[in-house]
Amino acid sequence: MDLHHRNDEIIETDILIIGGGTAGCLAAVEAKEINPALSVTIMEKAHVDRSGCLAGGMNAINAYLNPGETPESFVKYVRFDSCGLIREDLVKSMAELFEYSVKKVEKWGLPILSDEKGNYLPRGRWNIKINGESLKPIIAKAAKQSGTKILNWVVGTNFIVQGNRVLGAVGFSIRHGRMYIVKAKATIIATGGAAGIYKPNNMHDAQHKTWYSPFNNGAGYAMGIRAGAEMTSFEMRYVALRTKDAIAPTGTIALGVNAPQVNAKGEKFMQTKYAHLGGDGAPTPYRAYAPIMEIKEGRGPVYLDTRHITEKQASDLKAAFLDMYPSQVLYWTANEIDPSKEPVEVQTTEPYIVGGHCQGGYWIDVNRKTTLEGLYAAGDVAGGAPFKFVSGCWAEAVIAARDAAATVQKVSFGDIDPAWIEKEAERVYRPLLNYRNKPEQGVLPYDMEVRLQKIMDEYAGGVSTYYEMNEERLLIARKQLAKIPSQFEYLVANDLHQLMKAHEIIDRVIVARVLVEHLLYRKETRWPSYQTRMDYPDRDDDHWLKFVNSRVNLENGEIEMLTRPYEQLVPGDRYKPR
Ligand SMILES: Cc1cc2nc3c(=O)[nH]c(=O)nc-3n(C[C@H](O)[C@H](O)[C@H](O)COP(=O)(O)OP(=O)(O)OC[C@H]3O[C@@H](n4cnc5c(N)ncnc54)[C@H](O)[C@@H]3O)c2cc1C
Repeated sequence: MDLHHRNDEIIETDILIIGGGTAGCLAAVEAKEINPALSVTIMEKAHVDRSGCLAGGMNAINAYLNPGETPESFVKYVRFDSCGLIREDLVKSMAELFEYSVKKVEKWGLPILSDEKGNYLPRGRWNIKINGESLKPIIAKAAKQSGTKILNWVVGTNFIVQGNRVLGAVGFSIRHGRMYIVKAKATIIATGGAAGIYKPNNMHDAQHKTWYSPFNNGAGYAMGIRAGAEMTSFEMRYVALRTKDAIAPTGTIALGVNAPQVNAKGEKFMQTKYAHLGGDGAPTPYRAYAPIMEIKEGRGPVYLDTRHITEKQASDLKAAFLDMYPSQVLYWTANEIDPSKEPVEVQTTEPYIVGGHCQGGYWIDVNRKTTLEGLYAAGDVAGGAPFKFVSGCWAEAVIAARDAAATVQKVSFGDIDPAWIEKEAERVYRPLLNYRNKPEQGVLPYDMEVRLQKIMDEYAGGVSTYYEMNEERLLIARKQLAKIPSQFEYLVANDLHQLMKAHEIIDRVIVARVLVEHLLYRKETRWPSYQTRMDYPDRDDDHWLKFVNSRVNLENGEIEMLTRPYEQLVPGDRYKPR
């Protein structure tokens, strides 16, 4: 790599979408359908055919308005499930587009299970069943056929910014190393959430066997943080209850065959200790918190009790996992486990930042505009709207694309400062040059990742401390994390794949630093397990029924905290599901 003879590729596009996953592909198709004359470009670090959370397939659409439900009843449920604090405007606008986006993907070829009258088969109150093993190739095909230009294997590294306006983004190819400079009239960030911030349950050569896509490293958050975008609710981390070791989603079992959680003594603890919160239907953070407490207090392991199911149901269960999480079936087979004869052991994962399950992400308006001009956010990278899942990501993508398609008619391309491009090129390729110049002196991305994950695990509420934290521990995390950025300039990469890993860890550290500030700032416990403050163990609506937001001050680089008020749009008791 010669920094001065790089052979950059410069592209001009009306709309740039960074991240060609669930939301990114839907946004591209919507924009092209609205106006086929628009040029739309997707920048995707992997290959759109099998990238992001949908890569392994899916067996249910988790957010849908089944008969009798309305956008308002959905808001009530999500508000209850998120312990009383959500952006009701965002959640409602998303629910209004569930049907539109699901029908669209069905038309592209997604098999949705239905009865003889053609009604979708529900799974619980908000889910519908699908045969979604090929969901990602189906939506990728639609994006390709829409005429969108797709840059596969190009890792987005930074927005191009002028003042408060985003003028596009830059990235590099992990195939040939070329730098891409994409000028855009509107940019949609859709890079998903962040895995790999905390030490995972599975270590060593299984370290990247995480529940959330390990390639979603929080790059979109980091790009926004560096550009001064306002972020919200990082402290509402996501801790998932998953099958032990295989880490498959448990909704397939809990909802699919009505399997309650039981502890080692066979006690249905949700139905006794958490009956006042709804038992097995308690808010999701409590459904993770309860088993953590059972294990902490010596009553583990914890299981989903499947011993009542028939052989046929066990076989259907396996078929459902083959549509989404085939490794669960391999795990059962290899370990000679028959779920109709023995219960399925479950365990909570390390915490993630996922705007689609929780609400950490960009602070956006109802059109999905961020606080940076010309930049939209959709899907797991966007904040304020939990319980998004796949269909909510589609809905947000549609909303962002509609607004972007209308806006680009009125704006022109901005002027890009060549000196900034040179500086970014130096930042992006430095690990490669470091390796060439003094390979033995550098810091390996893996080593930095282990360092980050250890700090976050021990001081910022990871699995080893049962997700618990207090001010003193968080202050140590803050202090130790502050030392890492001075090491960025010593990172080494011996090839383009390593270069991607180097930028993944840089971005993770930036996200972790903002996360710790959020965890320090909220002085209550609103979402036990997601955010258990031992020094402020109770929910405190008088002081904390509001959003905790952050923004980097670009003058001095400090992370500044602020709050935004909660607005209740749908009347009713915020702590009841109906
Ligand atoms: C294991 C698992 C199972 C799930 N099961 C269900 C289910 O059954 N039903 C349901 O409704 N929901 C389910 N979900 C949730 C749902 O899949 C996600 O909420 C949704 O797919 C997120 O969409 P997204 O577009 O925000 O992110 P993704 O679909 O993950 O897309 C993000 C894209 O950005 C790319 N990217 C990341 N960084 C960069 C970068 N720097 N430059 C360029 N590209 C980048 C990634 O490669 C990826 O393609 C599941 C999630 C997981 C992880």
